[in-house]
Amino acid sequence: MSDQEQPAPTDQEIETQWRQDCATWRGAVLTGKYAHYCYEWDGLPVDETCLEWPCGCEKTLGASEDEVAAARARNQELLHGRYGRD
Ligand SMILES: [Zn+2]
Repeated sequence: MSDQEQPAPTDQEIETQWRQDCATWRGAVLTGKYAHYCYEWDGLPVDETCLEWPCGCEKTLGASEDEVAAARARNQELLHGRYGRD
């Protein structure tokens, strides 16, 4: 065994870590098509159900312009709704 060899995490280990991080930061597991650790948000779990989406990763993750536009419109509505009530 060499100190330099680090076994890559298995899919199951990655999945377990993801679930833990989602529970910690989101209170639920994110299962969206574009679920990812977002470096723009300091490694926060983000998917398309989050207000943090669309983020800087949208193109890397292959989101279409329509999907991004729809998410932007939804966010604006959510934010306006929040201000509107106060
Ligand atoms: Zn991102």
